[in-house]
Amino acid sequence: MSLNRSIREEFPLLVSNDVAYLDNAATAQRPACVLDEIRRFYENANANPLRGLYALSVEATSEYESARVAVQQLLNAAHPEEIVFTRNTTEAINLVAYSYGLNKVKQGDNITISIMEHHSNMLPWQMVAGKTGATLTYLECEKDGALTEDAIRNNIPDNTKIVAITHVSNVLGRTTPVETVVARAKEVGAVVLLDAAQSVAHMRVDVQKLGVDFLAFSGHKMMGPMGIGALYGKRELLEEMPPFLTGGEMIEYVTRTGATYAELPHKFEAGTVNAAGAVGLHAAIDFVNRIGYENMEERELLLTRLALDGIKDIPHVHVLGSEDPHEHCGIINFTIDGVHPHDVSQILDSDNVAVRAGHHCAQPLLAYLGVRSTTRASIMFYNTEEEIQRFLKSVSTVRERMGYSE
Ligand code: PLP
Repeated sequence: MSLNRSIREEFPLLVSNDVAYLDNAATAQRPACVLDEIRRFYENANANPLRGLYALSVEATSEYESARVAVQQLLNAAHPEEIVFTRNTTEAINLVAYSYGLNKVKQGDNITISIMEHHSNMLPWQMVAGKTGATLTYLECEKDGALTEDAIRNNIPDNTKIVAITHVSNVLGRTTPVETVVARAKEVGAVVLLDAAQSVAHMRVDVQKLGVDFLAFSGHKMMGPMGIGALYGKRELLEEMPPFLTGGEMIEYVTRTGATYAELPHKFEAGTVNAAGAVGLHAAIDFVNRIGYENMEERELLLTRLALDGIKDIPHVHVLGSEDPHEHCGIINFTIDGVHPHDVSQILDSDNVAVRAGHHCAQPLLAYLGVRSTTRASIMFYNTEEEIQRFLKSVSTVRERMGYSE
């Protein structure tokens, strides 16, 4: 698929600004339809959802709940009440750690996470292990991010209660063989939480097909607004979990001494909800469906291949992860001999190329790979070949501009 001009024109920032935006793994750009929907909601339907009995509040509630159905369909969840709106992936994972982890895990149990986890899917499990006395096992990957069947089997021991794993690594771009992880977890009776922060924006994710028990993602990485994300949880698990946060909107009845809680999913959505965020996320999901995952994947693969082919010819540049563009999900993370990634990023910025530099909230993985920080370019279908060429040209001049004479 060549980039349809009208698609590119859907992104006001990309139209008005000449930046080659290659930090999509941190947050994507928003198409006009998402921005328009947020504005329309506030102009036409703004009221506190789930509270008022008057028409405007009923309308706000209906828009909020129809966004939930859109997420349910996106993930192919069996029931809308299996979708809980959160602020982001981080909050969704914390919800499961506090509500499920602290209540179900005991001393003598094990929790397995992979060494590739973002800190958001690592610190909550360190907390649960620390508070319960459970062990925390790291599922080691190969240097290119591959998770072998042996590693999966050996690092999910029989006493495992939770396996929390990323779907796509935000450092290497590698996709986890979820079916193999789920099969082993089921053998030992563990639940699986999938961190889909880096996958939902790029590939079709079907919770029933994958067989995961929980899944977390953020709206802002798939062109929705910041401040809205979602947790998927199997209904029977969510039903037996206590609330994570308490307060308004999550109760049936309150007395001086206690309360009974609302039904799913409202039990987990305390306080005024981010209805405009949910409406914006709904618009982003519609947009993704209009373009089609197949088209997005094809386009991202083409751009990734272009970037990987070009970068491997540049001396002193080392790309992390596999050599196969299929194993990058648009993420190209690299180091340049003798140049700090912060300098790389500043030089690229002076050429109007926006990339991320640092530890990418994955310090244990970087330590395992033997690097302290790296530069990361991350691609979305709306990037252009010209932007990739600009990125490559800029990278090829970095050492010279830092004073090296080759
Ligand atoms: N998990 C992964 C794999 C990520 O890449 C990120 C963000 O970069 C997160 C979790 C956290 O996402 P958020 O900051 O939206 O909660």
